[in-house]
Amino acid sequence: MQKEYTGKPVFTGIAIGKVTIYHKKDSVVKREKVDDVEAEVKRYHDASEEAKKQLAELHDKALKEVGEANAAVFEVHQMMLDDLDYQESVENIIRTQNVNAEFAVATTGDNFSEMFANMDDDYMRGRAADVKDISNRVVGILSGAGAGGFTATEPSILLADDLAPSETVQLDKSLVLSFVTRHGSTNSHTAILARTMNIPALIGVDFSEDDMEGHMGIVDGYEGRFIVDPDDDVLAEYKKKKEKEEEQQRLLQELKGKPNVTKDGHVINVFANIGSVKDVADVLANDAGGIGLFRSEFLYLGCDDYPSEEDQFKAYKTVAENMAGKKVVIRTLDIGADKQVDYFHLDHEDNPAMGFRAIRICLKRPEIFKTQLRALYRASYYGNISIMFPMIISVDEVKKIKEIIAEVKKELDEQNLPYKDCELGIMVETPAAVWMSEELAKEVDFFSIGTNDLTQYTLACDRQNPNLEDFADTHHPAVLREIEYTIRNGHKGGAWVGICGELGADTSLTETFLRMGVDELSVSPSRVLAVRNAIRNTDLSK
Ligand code: PEP
Ligand code: MG
Repeated sequence: MQKEYTGKPVFTGIAIGKVTIYHKKDSVVKREKVDDVEAEVKRYHDASEEAKKQLAELHDKALKEVGEANAAVFEVHQMMLDDLDYQESVENIIRTQNVNAEFAVATTGDNFSEMFANMDDDYMRGRAADVKDISNRVVGILSGAGAGGFTATEPSILLADDLAPSETVQLDKSLVLSFVTRHGSTNSHTAILARTMNIPALIGVDFSEDDMEGHMGIVDGYEGRFIVDPDDDVLAEYKKKKEKEEEQQRLLQELKGKPNVTKDGHVINVFANIGSVKDVADVLANDAGGIGLFRSEFLYLGCDDYPSEEDQFKAYKTVAENMAGKKVVIRTLDIGADKQVDYFHLDHEDNPAMGFRAIRICLKRPEIFKTQLRALYRASYYGNISIMFPMIISVDEVKKIKEIIAEVKKELDEQNLPYKDCELGIMVETPAAVWMSEELAKEVDFFSIGTNDLTQYTLACDRQNPNLEDFADTHHPAVLREIEYTIRNGHKGGAWVGICGELGADTSLTETFLRMGVDELSVSPSRVLAVRNAIRNTDLSK
């Protein structure tokens, strides 16, 4: 029987396909008393064997897809499961506390991970996340939830409570037709990912998981509808709508290669936002004139230890080369807040959005910052890289950054490593940066307005909090005035000004931004042609 749910669309489009539920890997584990402890020990060993089998399969798959270096982690995981101290700890907890295997494995995972995290050795510290991972896998098998994650084998509609950025990184994107989540917010990273992938997404959907896995589903990203087991006439209606949508997409494709020019001849740049090297293909396919925001933190989210200078250098160089001389704005690490990475060992914070994040971490831990800057400057030699700094609130911070850059350049000179003098810019995403924009413009070459964070800080609305959707008005006049003020001050100080937050892609505001004098809009690759269309339909002389 047809079931229907409603939600808030964060990206338009129609998806039709099977429903697959994403199971959190670290679900809460209950402590339960057991009578037969030996049976419980056997359950643990069986699950551990099954986990090793899964890891061997994953290793073979990764070997084919991403090469030996990246596949090696699955071998390490298999070895960890065989570790005698680990096994003894699990068995000991089961036998001495008379508890279920799930609880013993989860507790051992937590204990070992904490022990590794506190070690002096960098390599061992990096293993903290691995031991958690293997424990979650075994717990998943014991509790019948499999290894967790997304288990689809064909392109499907993904249902989840919510997805952390690190979880989205690991998804096989070719198997996702749409995201439907219970939580999340318009500017959460799942929503941003949906826009990058050009697929519909709904948040705030109060679905019930019963009898849904594997069933036919429809996501209507225009009306905010999620339909399971649709009636024949509903399915037929949506198939027609989808065909129409595809026709519209084809028309937009005709705008490829055309300039971003208004009817009265005003030209601006339309660039694209990316989170990984792979996204460059979408940038080129959608004919963006450059990359206005490369969220480099996704390089850090994708691994379980600090990415080396060499790994980063390769990634930035590849992007710069693939863009063949077009501008590539790379933002330095914006970790913290909603983007957490275990190996950074950041303290728990009650208010992480206003906490130790982004440039604050880089200025306090310059060794991390310098590694990234060295990689960026070395890569700059191979293309047209600009460097941008997130979460700036003061001129002083920019001055400190420049001192660190001077040190990095001196080192590169001493080592005879070639680099170019990159353009330097800042994200204007705090009200402080807006109100200091006149002074800041004298220090940098460009501003990029991050409306996602600027909206959250201006309206005091946490961008992760789904209960604030009615208050976080993205068109709030306070935010629009800040944008106008920033553009005016940027130009006064000789800096070009772009917008790289999600609002840049809102075509109902394109004319407003053009009238404010914005120089660049950087949007998800899938929005480039729609924004070009809006620019070409605008006449500023009227
Ligand atoms: C922003 O805050 O608008 C922005 C572009 O950065 P992020 O969404 O990565 O915080
Ligand atoms: Mg931001």
